[in-house]
Amino acid sequence: MHLVTLIKGDGIGPSIMDEAVKVIDASGAKIQWEEAYAGFGAHEKFGTPLPDETMASFDKTRVAFKGPLTTVVGTGFRSINVALRQKYELYANVRPAKSWAGIKTRYDDVDIVIVRENTEGLYAGLEHYLTPKKDIAESLAVVTRSGSERIIDYAFQYARENNRQKVTVCHKANILKYTQGLFLDVARETATRYPDIQFDEKIIDAACMHLVMNPQQFDVIVCTNMFGDILSDLTAGLVGGLGLIPGANIGNDAALFEAVHGSAPDIAGKNLANPTAVIMAGAMMLSHLGEQEAAERVIKAVEKVVNEGKHVTPDLNPHSKAGTIEMGNAIVGAME
Ligand code: NAD
Repeated sequence: MHLVTLIKGDGIGPSIMDEAVKVIDASGAKIQWEEAYAGFGAHEKFGTPLPDETMASFDKTRVAFKGPLTTVVGTGFRSINVALRQKYELYANVRPAKSWAGIKTRYDDVDIVIVRENTEGLYAGLEHYLTPKKDIAESLAVVTRSGSERIIDYAFQYARENNRQKVTVCHKANILKYTQGLFLDVARETATRYPDIQFDEKIIDAACMHLVMNPQQFDVIVCTNMFGDILSDLTAGLVGGLGLIPGANIGNDAALFEAVHGSAPDIAGKNLANPTAVIMAGAMMLSHLGEQEAAERVIKAVEKVVNEGKHVTPDLNPHSKAGTIEMGNAIVGAME
């Protein structure tokens, strides 16, 4: 039995997480869920967006399955997602984007994994105003050699273990000579230790154009925090949108699984949210827990329902009458 901290989150979180739990429970994996709270809802209920009980649960289980959390733009508390990633040193954020046979997009053969550094860069949280009038603000990007080494090494190891051919580092070392320069230097050094994996480097702006025009040339992409955050929404768009893309946040002794998308307040409470991304994140969690067979069962069932395109949410098929719950039920029904 695996004990897992379950955080349903805000907005569409509770509804998609209920479907994901239903699917994972039906997969045959033995999971005991320990529910905990975080985010905007927790802030309203407990006076803090990250209650001590939630940390205590994650301290114990070391595996969390989390719905999206609302972070108010510009003001209010710091992102709890960022805080959790930093506290547990979940340094590798893995976000795969793969074409689906049943979803029509511009390309039908995209298969890209973004490996994003998850604890430093511009999301280190070092921001302040320089003047009392608050008319000059400053954010500091932190890039360390050790942080770069561990994420770039993770990307190459991931490529090797998952039979992937190439790692591309996307950077801006032409302008940000120190922070991005250090990251690029470490990538070049690391590449020499993996002669079996091709290495490529692209400046981030050109990388965006290449991703849109010829995404097939990419395999595994590794980059610093904010670039990875942005690129993974771009790659989500290439394969059918945010409702489909899972994410794993991996550290040396803890891991957290979630969707790439946020709490989607525009569709919350309407039974419209696509549960695929969190269900696929659940499959990544099952693999991490060593429940490979259950993971594959989940993936196959999701693929069947998504590719058939009948019992799917309207973001995948505007003519479909199915909502979040109906899609979850269809996935459970498709499980072999
Ligand atoms: P979002 O990802 O919530 O939504 C962007 C667009 O995609 C919206 O139109 C939304 O309806 C759609 N969308 C997202 N998920 C979907 C799904 N499962 N099915 C169908 N459509 C879906 O991004 P946002 O609106 O910029 O952010 C909303 C909130 O979420 C913010 O507070 C943000 O900080 C937070 N956020 C949290 C996480 C996280 O918890 N990991 C990640 C990103 C954003």
